[in-house]
Amino acid sequence: MRTRLIAGNWKMHKTATEAVTFIHEFRKVLSPSIAIDIVVAPPFVSLFAVQQAMTREDRFALAAQNLHWEAEGAYTGEVSGSMLKDLGCTYVIVGHSERRHLFGESNDVVNKKVKAALTHGLIPILCVGETLEEREADHTQTVVKDKLIKGLSDVGVENIPTIIIAYEPVWAIGTGRAASVEQAEEVHAFLRATLTTKFGEIAQDVRILYGGSVSPQNAETLFRCNEIDGALIGKACLDPTTFAKICSLATLAST
Ligand code: PEP
Repeated sequence: MRTRLIAGNWKMHKTATEAVTFIHEFRKVLSPSIAIDIVVAPPFVSLFAVQQAMTREDRFALAAQNLHWEAEGAYTGEVSGSMLKDLGCTYVIVGHSERRHLFGESNDVVNKKVKAALTHGLIPILCVGETLEEREADHTQTVVKDKLIKGLSDVGVENIPTIIIAYEPVWAIGTGRAASVEQAEEVHAFLRATLTTKFGEIAQDVRILYGGSVSPQNAETLFRCNEIDGALIGKACLDPTTFAKICSLATLAST
């Protein structure tokens, strides 16, 4: 049985002060009966403040939104996995479509980042997804398979159960137009089948999240689907009450 996971990607939102306020409020509104894994991914500059604001009792973990593949060096403006680990990060988002499309990250770069994350003891949340044009041309499976296989190239099978995959159709991100349960289910099943072909039955342990306009309105229906192990959330994670509500819905769907 895979534990559901809800991750909130804050993107470039909230100052460090606002991030700490979020943590205090989220802690207050999060139901005590939560039975899933929860992850918050603030911008780099807020990670330290958030880590300092977190307590041992908190039932959420810290993620970064990106990392550089080298451990250190002359890479102005970049942040390494060892730095993130030192700051208390457990997870790191890799290959988000905004990184791929706005910052030109190739599958090769994404793969280096996945491997760097693992080297530094961080759990990569590897994002894969198709654009609307690719879906309409019936290329969804080819595209997500390519991103999945290339993203995990040279990753040892022993790391596979730890890795998290996020299926994020680009057309659903920030548009208010989430994939239907059927669309998500089909791609999730395909991704798991692809992982099974490459890595064997251990692929059953991999959590595959859905991302793209998840909200309290559609979360429960999505989470009722066995193929959907949780969500990567953008807009709806910025408000502590809304994010806590989605976490509760994921718990409800797990029982
Ligand atoms: C995202 O950017 O990963 C995302 C899923 O955003 P939103 O929830 O706003 O669609």
